[in-house]
Amino acid sequence: MEKINRQMLAALLEAEAISNLSLADLERLFRQDMDLKRSLPDGTCQFDPRNGDRILYVSRRGYRPHDNRPLETADPPAAGHCPICQGETTGVIDVAELSEGFTFINKNLFPVVYPFDSHELENQRGCATRGLHFLQWTSSLHDKDWHNMPVTDGTVVMQRLAALEKKLVETGEQVLITKNYGRLVGSSLAHGHQQIILTALIPNRFLDNQRFLQQKGERFSAYLLRQNPSELLVRDYGTAVLLVPYFIRRPYEMMLLLKDTSLRYLHDLPYEALSDIARAWRDAIRAIRVAMPAIGREIAYNITCHNGPGAGLYFEFLPFTQEFGGLEHLGLFACQADPYVVADHIRTIRTQ
Ligand SMILES: [Zn+2]
Repeated sequence: MEKINRQMLAALLEAEAISNLSLADLERLFRQDMDLKRSLPDGTCQFDPRNGDRILYVSRRGYRPHDNRPLETADPPAAGHCPICQGETTGVIDVAELSEGFTFINKNLFPVVYPFDSHELENQRGCATRGLHFLQWTSSLHDKDWHNMPVTDGTVVMQRLAALEKKLVETGEQVLITKNYGRLVGSSLAHGHQQIILTALIPNRFLDNQRFLQQKGERFSAYLLRQNPSELLVRDYGTAVLLVPYFIRRPYEMMLLLKDTSLRYLHDLPYEALSDIARAWRDAIRAIRVAMPAIGREIAYNITCHNGPGAGLYFEFLPFTQEFGGLEHLGLFACQADPYVVADHIRTIRTQ
């Protein structure tokens, strides 16, 4: 089985550390990438006039070679045709050693935003979608990800994510961090990764956080840490708390909240807190990986990071344990599990 090594990486390496690049350097590296030019976003977005939901138009992503393929039963799918393992990917702008292999960040080959010149957007409808879209590969080894790496390695990956966030936040725009795992929830590659997007667009959930602070006079994290029933605690990590929110929409949803709710960004966190977060990501993902097959579901989940104004700093773990029905599209959710039963079950899953 071929796997990406330092020699293959050298051919892709544009920078060893994100901190050595300016934002202008980053834009230039995106614009110079000829592979990216074949799969640019349409350059337009629209707002749903009812609720302000933002919709980016990205027609080329429908042609991703690894999308829309038949169900794969191996978990993770074999590395034989993994473009990352074969080094068939974009220029790398950050790399760090792990105890085994390395972690690295590069440009998303099928971006949802792009550093368009203003003249390139002149004839577009709706608002412009300027921005940068990165991928962070958790490990160079195909089958390694947060759940089966040492916490010290997970902490290194978290530190590199924080370094990228710090660089991008200089723009004053939004830095969106998410993880998709599994074919059913938007992941077209099995090799474990995180998505990082710089955009001037503020997603609705971020506006929800800001509105919560304005209306309630406290951050959402502070509210939930105080108000969530203690029976729904999964684990206290010292600087952060993993819990099942009392209002889950889907079975096995979890949230991880930093106790210091004045913190707003990953790069604000000291090493100890980044280490706690890496440990909590490992535990939450391990729990999802046990719970989903037990209820007959293929493993698939999303993680979202709520950083920036109004949130405190928190993460959502969103396993795809239940489809969306018509009711849900009306904003009325019918959750097929009780949060207290779910929390009891998660605490019994051995994640250590
Ligand atoms: Zn791979």
